[in-house]
Amino acid sequence: MSVKGSTALVRLAGNPECEILGAMVLQEGSEKRFYERVVGQPYDREFGERQSSKRRGAQFERNAFAGDARLLREAFANQVGTTADRVMVRNLMDDHPGSKDDARIARLRITRDILADRLAGRTAPDIIVQPQLLLPTRPGPKPYFFIAPDLLVWTPESGTYLPGDLKSFIVRENEVSAGDLARVRLQLGAQNLALRHEYHRLDETVIVAPLGMLVFSKPNGLAPHAPRVEDIGGAIEAVQIGIRAFLRHRQRVDELRAGAEPYTVVGDLQPSFKDSCLASCVMAQWCRQRVAGTAADMGDVAGRMLGGATIDHLLALMTGAAAPIDEQQRIIATELRALGGRDAIGRAA
Ligand code: SF4
Repeated sequence: MSVKGSTALVRLAGNPECEILGAMVLQEGSEKRFYERVVGQPYDREFGERQSSKRRGAQFERNAFAGDARLLREAFANQVGTTADRVMVRNLMDDHPGSKDDARIARLRITRDILADRLAGRTAPDIIVQPQLLLPTRPGPKPYFFIAPDLLVWTPESGTYLPGDLKSFIVRENEVSAGDLARVRLQLGAQNLALRHEYHRLDETVIVAPLGMLVFSKPNGLAPHAPRVEDIGGAIEAVQIGIRAFLRHRQRVDELRAGAEPYTVVGDLQPSFKDSCLASCVMAQWCRQRVAGTAADMGDVAGRMLGGATIDHLLALMTGAAAPIDEQQRIIATELRALGGRDAIGRAA
């Protein structure tokens, strides 16, 4: 759970209506700290990625990058259109390690130079490991997102680099669960948009195909599978919706806070509680209390079908204790009575 970089954009893409998420992205510091400042209590639940999966991810990357990225060169040789021995790799973490802004900016400069070199026909690496890109949202506070794909891979058919991510999920036959795939496609979508921005700084006419690559781990030995090329047109669209939502939320937070820190205005912001919040956001229990007693507390489908109606009112509609106030409520009341009747028959049987 994080609200930085591409993760922030993935989460905004998944829940663009949530204004509180916008404040969380604007707030300096960790998501956990955000919770503690809003709620006024320590966050005492399990938080973030499990240590075991962090270790597995780090080991997978070490394996992939070892020996001048031998396993990656083998995995991408076909796509680059040469043999593994001839694939050129540059790991920018070797030049400027770390996650501080200074190191990111230094990697961004090198990435930009490499893109320019390729465009000009000069010699450039086929695989850039740990490149740094930027996605602007200026003017305003938080005027850009740093976006860091694991890889940029030269793709002769597209005539551009394409973003790639290493995923240490252990998969058979390169198949991965639908939920995991949706999330990683959104990450690739954010990376693709940032890559477009970087290319367009150099040349507005460059077309970056709506594609990205995923490299999963084989079941044995944490070695990379062959890259899986994903069509991410839908994910790019979703991330663009998330960015537009962020710009709206930022404006609203700025109007309310009058210079104070974003967390101070959370009480005036609108949450958009969904089932997925429970697994993705530290604020989930707090936001759930704000929809307690309404249809939204019964899950996404109930919230969508029944709107902001309270559970008490729905029960009253079902029993006839309350009269529908409009056509939508009349339909809901009819359906609820039918359901109640079916349930009674089921129990009698
Ligand atoms: S838990 Fe709350 S703040 Fe977090 S995404 Fe859901 S509605 Fe927004």
